[in-house]
Amino acid sequence: MRIVFLGPPGAGKGTQAARVAASLGVPHLSTGDMLRVAKQEGTEVGLKAKAFMETGQLVPDKVVDELVRERLGAPDCAQGFLLDGYPRNQAQARALETHLQTGALDYVISLQVDDEKLVARIAGRRTCPKDNSVYHMATRPPRRPGLCDLCGTELVQRADDREEVVRDRLCVYHEATAGLVGYYERAGLVHTVDGDRSIEQVAAAVRAALSIDDDRSENAA
Ligand code: AMP
Repeated sequence: MRIVFLGPPGAGKGTQAARVAASLGVPHLSTGDMLRVAKQEGTEVGLKAKAFMETGQLVPDKVVDELVRERLGAPDCAQGFLLDGYPRNQAQARALETHLQTGALDYVISLQVDDEKLVARIAGRRTCPKDNSVYHMATRPPRRPGLCDLCGTELVQRADDREEVVRDRLCVYHEATAGLVGYYERAGLVHTVDGDRSIEQVAAAVRAALSIDDDRSENAA
């Protein structure tokens, strides 16, 4: 199955995409994760991407298209894949169509959550720079204020999780990415899922949209 997850930042794409990919046994390709790794490792791609990512802007299409093209060429993508965070604009959607050798996508899941809820979700997020565990000041605070439960490291706020950057990321989403929902709707691929519910409820709705039976997802859990 070839699946694209669309949705604004903080809508839960990463969480849901990881679950679906595990239950289907296909690779979860998150361009945000790929770029963060490149940035951490200080590769040429990472250096090119850094300033765009930290200000919530899109990394140039050429850089991201090439990353995705290379990744989709790997043997583990032959039976399907789940793209999370790509495409992010019309040009990337067209580039994706040229990467895919045959046919098109099977499903596009569009996760929807109101902007103000997203700002609260993302701006309250804190992460551990050592083991990458994620907390939330209001909904999942660490046991000791400001410190990782697992390793005691001081938690940080990702540069692009600051409220002003989150608002910029939402603007970028509405200007560049939201139009892709209509683009894929015209191809009859879109299933819209209300993302403003618990992780379990959203996961159930996503599984239903993709016709994944519950046995299959429980086996993978
Ligand atoms: P994400 O984790 O998907 O929200 O991505 C984090 C940041 O990585 C974004 O704010 C962009 O700066 C960059 N990024 C991720 N995916 C793309 C993409 N498909 N095109 C351009 N920039 C991207």
